[in-house]
Amino acid sequence: MRDQEAIIIGGGPAGSSLAIRLAQMGWTVKLIERNIKPIRKVCGEYLCPAGVKELDLLGIGHQARTQFNGVEGLSIKAPNGTWVCGRFDATSKIMSSGLAVPRDRLDALLLHEAEKHGVQVELGRELKTLQPIKEGWRVTFFDGSSATTSLLVGADGRRSKVAQLAGLSDPHKEEKVAIHALIKSSGSSAEGKMILNKDGTYLGVNKINEHELNLSAVLPRQRFFNQAPKDVLIHCMKEHSEFSNLIDAIGKVHSTYPITHRVKSCISSHLALVGDAAGFLDPLTGEGITSALTMSRLLAHSLASHETQNNHHAALMSYARAKRRSLGPKTLLNNGFQWLIRHPKLCNLLGKYLAHSSSRAHAFIGMIGNTQSLTSSLLSLR
Ligand SMILES: Cc1cc2nc3c(=O)[nH]c(=O)nc-3n(C[C@H](O)[C@H](O)[C@H](O)COP(=O)(O)OP(=O)(O)OC[C@H]3O[C@@H](n4cnc5c(N)ncnc54)[C@H](O)[C@@H]3O)c2cc1C
Repeated sequence: MRDQEAIIIGGGPAGSSLAIRLAQMGWTVKLIERNIKPIRKVCGEYLCPAGVKELDLLGIGHQARTQFNGVEGLSIKAPNGTWVCGRFDATSKIMSSGLAVPRDRLDALLLHEAEKHGVQVELGRELKTLQPIKEGWRVTFFDGSSATTSLLVGADGRRSKVAQLAGLSDPHKEEKVAIHALIKSSGSSAEGKMILNKDGTYLGVNKINEHELNLSAVLPRQRFFNQAPKDVLIHCMKEHSEFSNLIDAIGKVHSTYPITHRVKSCISSHLALVGDAAGFLDPLTGEGITSALTMSRLLAHSLASHETQNNHHAALMSYARAKRRSLGPKTLLNNGFQWLIRHPKLCNLLGKYLAHSSSRAHAFIGMIGNTQSLTSSLLSLR
């Protein structure tokens, strides 16, 4: 059997966690990241309990819990003002807390762990082109250098260049923009908040530490035509009394567009996509990081189970199936949530039904945090 090697493009949670796993399997791994150091990304920075379990499986859960604040539950406000509040420990003793993860620090932790495992991490290098060769790919970078590999992994996020260049992207019309700001604030409890508006837009709030709140909002593109992102955010905050005293504390506002990403397939010959690069629906349920970590685990397992045959094709097919099986049901449900938030009357009815009983509220919040199986969560909602 020849030595196994891979090039991974993208040093976010998907790329770094895959790099760690492949290096643990004895592979020679090169990880390419265009930024010169991990940065704070447009992200709610909430890692759901199932994501913390993924970090445990990677062997860095303890380090993460020591570095980052816990998120014990979520509260969701329906458009009519009804709050649905649930705690994760009400549905699981094992996955009882999420984490508030400043992205520069989470990404740095994962990259550092990858380096410790012998991964060749190359920061400040950006993928330019791809060319299929016999049994692999030739990759060129903007600095003029190039490399060949028998397994190329695109972990390069929602605007994946690997997906585009390999012909896997599925372009679609996108009408939403996400904005994000850090706010200086000493108040607020250790839980995330999601505020649903009548027009299907929403705001997410996450307490990162003792003096910082992360605020993100997903809004229609038209709102940005004549207004700067900061003014749009201020306008949104003014609509909710809980933010009225925070407007002066807004830091730099970032926006990103498009926020979704679709692909025709997550695999091709000698190539796989993981994380957002393999498709991203919407940040509504705050599961992107967890899905990224899960996909990397599934890809590594598929490659490990076909390693003796030295057969990437079978391994990649098995990854695509495992991804569908593992993430498919929740993706369907999340599509249902996307539909629901565009129907405020239904949202209000569901909010009333869930808020009526604390066990239903806990089960619903547990479903969002993936603390128990989807079937158990749905049964507990009765
Ligand atoms: C508004 C908003 C809020 C969100 N809130 C949450 C939340 O609270 N919780 C949650 O779990 N998820 C959230 N998400 C989703 C989450 O941010 C992503 O799902 C997660 O970052 C996916 O990780 P990744 O490794 O796939 O991609 P990324 O983290 O995007 O990493 C991709 C990396 O690839 C690098 N790269 C890109 N192109 C190239 C190239 N050509 N060459 C080299 N490197 C390249 C980038 O620099 C980047 O570091 C949110 C998303 C949005 C838009």
